Amino acid sequence: MVLVFVEHNNGTFKKAALEAVTYAKMTADTLGTDCKALVFGTAEEASELGKYGVSSVLSLSSDHLAHYDSQAYAAAVANVAKASGASVVVLNNNSTGVGITGRIAVKLDAGCASGVNSLPVKTDNGITVEKNIFSGKAISTINLTSPVSVISVTGNTIQPEVVGSPCSVESISADVPAPRTQVISQDKQQGTVAPLPEAELVVSAGRGMKGPENWGIIEALADALGATTACSRPVADTGWRPHHEHVGQTGVAIRPNLYIAAGISGAIQHLAGVNSSKCIVVINKDPEAPFFKAADYGICADLFDVVPKLTEAIKKAKA
Ligand SMILES: Cc1cc2nc3c(=O)[nH]c(=O)nc-3n(C[C@H](O)[C@H](O)[C@H](O)COP(=O)(O)OP(=O)(O)OC[C@H]3O[C@@H](n4cnc5c(N)ncnc54)[C@H](O)[C@@H]3O)c2cc1C
Repeated sequence: MVLVFVEHNNGTFKKAALEAVTYAKMTADTLGTDCKALVFGTAEEASELGKYGVSSVLSLSSDHLAHYDSQAYAAAVANVAKASGASVVVLNNNSTGVGITGRIAVKLDAGCASGVNSLPVKTDNGITVEKNIFSGKAISTINLTSPVSVISVTGNTIQPEVVGSPCSVESISADVPAPRTQVISQDKQQGTVAPLPEAELVVSAGRGMKGPENWGIIEALADALGATTACSRPVADTGWRPHHEHVGQTGVAIRPNLYIAAGISGAIQHLAGVNSSKCIVVINKDPEAPFFKAADYGICADLFDVVPKLTEAIKKAKA
């Protein structure tokens, strides 16, 4: 059986969570087995996961899971995987996944592949998956030969696919250790646009902006598109923009459908976090800027001229 751990946000599932379910269903099909989902707490839309191919949803409630704690979460997933006889555990390679994938694998004595971006292929002695390494310059092929495997999936590896109908939701119990950390408070950012790791549309800018006082045109373009804003590392390092907007090798890795980069040179460390975007639009006044090599569309011009025109054109088209 393939067990997919699915996170929810107050009962609803984000696209990335549904991607993991589709990935798990396809893995189960490849292995000729069944696929079940595990959710923590009560998720109003839990039965809807059946549409994406799980035969049932296991719902585990515990006070110890009220806040994210990597030790408690990993133990809970591993204990459910053991009890249900799962041969593969699938989860998202998001901030939760990064914290618990290795821990789950240790608890299950399982082979582990984190951050994969290919569907598994069945081999004579297990399954093979691929992941990007060296800032996306190379691909690593990993053969998982253990009886149990743990796979975390990079966002946008696969699109959620409706293949079935709503399924049953079963309340289960499992040992969940008390967390050793206590969350005192959580201050969530307000706003309607998606956070960077889940954003479908991203408008990003770099040192070509000259200073933080000029960011109004980037925010106006993002507003017109309904996009999330991002930036290059030096921009965050110098305090022009908040650190959570920094994308790249040492920042957030994103895979949006559209990435617009204005005044960013396209250094390898920046590209490492954005070059899996579906469509890249680069605005740079230097025709030699390396970013143009990675661009689907390149505008070689002054961004202070182009960005407001783009915003107006988008507003007009939307109207
Ligand atoms: C270990 C390590 C990790 C790193 N990790 C990251 C990372 O995660 N993310 C990251 O971004 N960087 C990272 N860097 C830094 C990276 O190497 C680059 O220095 C950085 O990405 C450059 O930022 P930039 O493109 O904004 O600035 P610049 O390199 O200064 O480029 C500015 C660009 O703006 C253009 N420009 C200027 N004026 C205009 C205008 N009016 N109109 C249009 N274009 C204009 C210029 O032609 C230029 O191409 C890392 C570096 C190291 C060593």
